[in-house]
Amino acid sequence: MQELLAVAFAVSAVLSATTALIAWRHRRATPAATALTGVCAALALWSLGNAPVHLHLPALVHRSATYTTFVGVLGCVVGLYLLARTIDDPHHRPTRRQVAVLTGVPLLVLAAVATDPWHHLFFTSTGYVGDPPHFAVVYGPLFWAHTAWCYGVLAVGVGHLGRAWHRSHAAVRRQVTSVLVAAAAPLAGNAVNISNPALFAGQDITPLCFTVTALVSARAVLRQGLLRVVPIAREAVLETVTDCVVVVDAGGSVVDVNPAGRELLRRSRPDLPDPVGLAASAFLSPRALGDLPGRHVRYPIEYVPGLHLDVGVTAIHDGRGRGLGRVVVARDITEVVETRRRLEEQLELVEQLRAQLQEESVRDPLTGMHNRRFLDGAIDAALGAAVRGGTPLGVLALDVDRFKAVNDTHGHAAGDEVLVAIARTLAATVRAADTAARTGGEEFVVLLPGADERAVQERAEEVRAACAGLVVPVGDGAVVRPTVSVGTAVHPGHGADARSLLAAADRALYAAKAAGRDRVVAAGGLRTG
Ligand code: GH3
Ligand code: MG
Ligand code: MG
Repeated sequence: MQELLAVAFAVSAVLSATTALIAWRHRRATPAATALTGVCAALALWSLGNAPVHLHLPALVHRSATYTTFVGVLGCVVGLYLLARTIDDPHHRPTRRQVAVLTGVPLLVLAAVATDPWHHLFFTSTGYVGDPPHFAVVYGPLFWAHTAWCYGVLAVGVGHLGRAWHRSHAAVRRQVTSVLVAAAAPLAGNAVNISNPALFAGQDITPLCFTVTALVSARAVLRQGLLRVVPIAREAVLETVTDCVVVVDAGGSVVDVNPAGRELLRRSRPDLPDPVGLAASAFLSPRALGDLPGRHVRYPIEYVPGLHLDVGVTAIHDGRGRGLGRVVVARDITEVVETRRRLEEQLELVEQLRAQLQEESVRDPLTGMHNRRFLDGAIDAALGAAVRGGTPLGVLALDVDRFKAVNDTHGHAAGDEVLVAIARTLAATVRAADTAARTGGEEFVVLLPGADERAVQERAEEVRAACAGLVVPVGDGAVVRPTVSVGTAVHPGHGADARSLLAAADRALYAAKAAGRDRVVAAGGLRTG
């Protein structure tokens, strides 16, 4: 038995030392590696100190080995405590007080052990006992005080592991569970040892059990990636991103909200208590909690008046595809929405101005009628339609009679009044499909799509008569009774294109002037009025 235990201690020492080396090499990859290195190195010492116990060596060597084990015990306890704290909070750094206690107490214990031959408070006796004789110690009160302290520190460590377990997600939880279960091994070993010391020939098998703990922890930390940089970095990202992140479990309860999310909720929903633990429906829209086809939806929403969010909802599943809940990520896009709205308003204004400008460019400012530029386009379009439809297109060319005399007699402003009155009369007599334009000083053109020669004559006569009926007051009680002369032409008979058609109407207009004015003359020579 003694030999078997010695081999077990030696193997445990080698395993622990190797694990310590591996952990040390990984110290940059995970913050737990340093604590793990300490634990394993201490265990190596502890096991090494226990290994030669069956050998018949001078009592001094045994005593020294026994004392060395205490360096291992204390290192192991402090290391496991720090490892548990790191698993609980990867950013944990011991405070000054913690450092003082975690180094001060072990130093005191080591001092007590080293000075034991003088006071025997740690070991009441050390030496060879039994038959065959083996080296054994009898523990004194300081030993038990030190044991109590160690258990206390370990208990706090287990508490931290429990907290980490409670807080972590599925994958991490499995690893923490394995560390917790492994931590029970030394307790079991110690219980067996205390209850039945003879079972292992008076040997303390606790370091062997601790080696199991260390190996399982090393596997979780180094192989399974517990506390790897990536998950820690992810956590750090979650803490620092400006996007709001809300985690909702499968039952619809909020399980996590990052600082940005809390800040947004504080601003927009001051009525809400701490969001964690609330039903997500208390502040998330039905859309965020509804079906997730394709496991992801994204949509913009005006969360509260004046606060626009771009929301993405993603389903989360465990390794076996079971739904664990959803992650809702929201980004404040109020500024973007507002800028876009302002831009759209400006664009609309620009469009209005452009349309207005375009309209003004084809309008005559005095009468508000279309101008020559508009007529040029309109006549081409009307001719095209007439050709395609095989329909006629009538044209009236109007000129106010003896208009110069109006200006000369009553002034330019009075002349303008007359022009405006004639423009109104024209607007009132033309139909929706017709086009009337002021093409010069006191000259107008009217297009009459679909009007044949007879219809054109009738419409021209109508216009002429309406103008002749005008009585325009021009101030000081004076009135002007204008008349107009009209020349008419009809496509296709009097012209195939715009130019020849207008020229034909103009020639007819001159003919009307020559015939005495206030009359209609057709390009074909038909005269009325
Ligand atoms: P006719 O019967 O032969 O057409 O004689 P008329 O006096 O009308 O002919 P004329 O072409 O000699 O005169 C046209 C006048 O119209 C000359 C010009 O001063 C005047 N006129 C042109 N544009 C405007 C305008 O916008 N306002 C005013 N008040 N007069 C204008
Ligand atoms: Mg004229
Ligand atoms: Mg004239």
